[in-house]
Amino acid sequence: MSFNEDDLVPISALQHLIFCPRQCALIHLERLWADNQWTAEGHLLHKRAESGKSTTRDGIRITRDLPLHSLKYGLIGKADIIEWHPPSDLESQAVKGTLKEVIHQYRTRSLADWTILPIEYKRGQPKQNDSDRVQLCAQALCLEEMLHVSISKGLLFYGKKQHRYEVVLDESLRQTTIDTIQQMHDLITSGRTPQAEFGPKCQSCSLYDLCLPQSFQQNSVSQWLNQQVNHSLK
Ligand code: SF4
Repeated sequence: MSFNEDDLVPISALQHLIFCPRQCALIHLERLWADNQWTAEGHLLHKRAESGKSTTRDGIRITRDLPLHSLKYGLIGKADIIEWHPPSDLESQAVKGTLKEVIHQYRTRSLADWTILPIEYKRGQPKQNDSDRVQLCAQALCLEEMLHVSISKGLLFYGKKQHRYEVVLDESLRQTTIDTIQQMHDLITSGRTPQAEFGPKCQSCSLYDLCLPQSFQQNSVSQWLNQQVNHSLK
């Protein structure tokens, strides 16, 4: 994969695609959006994560709302929070060395020596599907490309649980993420919005009133044919 800047798709679209391809197309192709209780709470949580400036705590640099992109994968977005953990020998220097020595070391060490930890904030609790892990992994792919580093893990913070869960960015998750990115680009390139498939996910969908998934069910071709056959047999 390799993309121009005009062809970048939002990282957040990946979770929409995993949740429902039609929802993804309605938002990112047809530019429809509606908030419901879940999305409103999600925005609020993200706003809290994004508020405030970069800080340093116990030698760990914390940046918020960092812009991300990848021309390799055709992605653009932001990282809620990134923790930059210094190499372990610098951590011990922070205790022993003078402030001047420590600052000098920090500046001369390559970023590749640091542990970079992307953290994504979510409302609710861990999901059955891969959407949150894929979104986090996509952020890591962007950071790896932008900074020429490798990132082995990230964290997902869930508002309802008030807990951070570690996500290992292994080969399997990376492949799932790359496959999802490819499907996303295919969907955007096709310019076609898939038909609704009514299911349990629709109960929590913010676009329910715009999508009207049950109308699609009622008007499906097979049901129409059945109605026509039954009618002709009367
Ligand atoms: S209402 Fe259901 S089918 Fe329609 S976009 Fe939402 S999840 Fe998808």
